Amino acid sequence: MIKKLRTIPIIIVMLEALLRRLPQNHPKRGEMEEELSRRWAGFRGEQSLDYYVESLLGRERYIVFHDLRLPISNDKFFQIDTLILGPNYFIILEGKNILGELFFDPNQLKRTLDGKVDIFPNPILQAENQQFFLTSLLEKHSIPRLPNTSFVVIANQNSIIKPNPDYPAVAQKVIRPAAIRSKLELVSNKYRNPILDKKDIQKTTRLLLKLHTPAWPNVMQRFQVSEDELLRGMHCQKCNRLSVERKGHSWICPVCGSEEKHALINTLIDYVLLVDSKISNGRLREFVRIPSVHMASKILKSLNLPYTGDRRHRKYELQFDYLQKLLGI
Ligand SMILES: [Zn+2]
Repeated sequence: MIKKLRTIPIIIVMLEALLRRLPQNHPKRGEMEEELSRRWAGFRGEQSLDYYVESLLGRERYIVFHDLRLPISNDKFFQIDTLILGPNYFIILEGKNILGELFFDPNQLKRTLDGKVDIFPNPILQAENQQFFLTSLLEKHSIPRLPNTSFVVIANQNSIIKPNPDYPAVAQKVIRPAAIRSKLELVSNKYRNPILDKKDIQKTTRLLLKLHTPAWPNVMQRFQVSEDELLRGMHCQKCNRLSVERKGHSWICPVCGSEEKHALINTLIDYVLLVDSKISNGRLREFVRIPSVHMASKILKSLNLPYTGDRRHRKYELQFDYLQKLLGI
């Protein structure tokens, strides 16, 4: 039973918004585009694992959570790609979509590709740390202690996993997606005693979903882009210019003639992803490029956003999820 689905990571959505709002000749574009394509590759790798996990876990006994971000302390979190929770144990799968020749040692993962060597953190240890953090978290909430294990799943079919006889964990824990089923059977045979009953499982599920805290990175700060570098206006989805204008009651692109029903909401989504979760009438006029105070005020009212402050100091609350709902996503 899948309790939490995987969605496109917010960092991808943010990077796409940022690239959309920067001039073509902006010096940071290359770096951003590189990160964006790496993030997409990572996400696709995780999705390909989901296929294996979901197809073999038809049985009702297991609960699967994709992409959990849980607290270690007030401001620190750990992230789990895939968690399989059953009455007898839990398993963590850490997906990696790294191309090349992969050599694991306790300190790092060394990747060789086209004669170039890159170093990554050791994902075996990353996954073991997640086991540790999850065990402590469940203990803190009085959930009986479950045996647990983890695997690193190399999703990229073209990558080569080099053996390391001095590090036995590689042979035991680094696997291909197709091996997930047999590994799961091995674990099931090893831990035969049910520890959680149905109620405990429900309680644990509720707890994990409640504690899950989606990331909200500051992508502008990360790339040191300031707000005044962002291009203003509303995008036309058809010709991709920032040209959309209000004509009567519709949003129209005067360049290509397209009617852009969602131009305003899409622009507010860019604003909340890149700038701030609050917007005033003045900021709306400036970012969206609306000339009249009256029109901006009418637009803000029509969106039924929660607000604080009165009249001229009023600030409207922009919530990403709410704006997406307005788009019908
Ligand atoms: Zn257009």
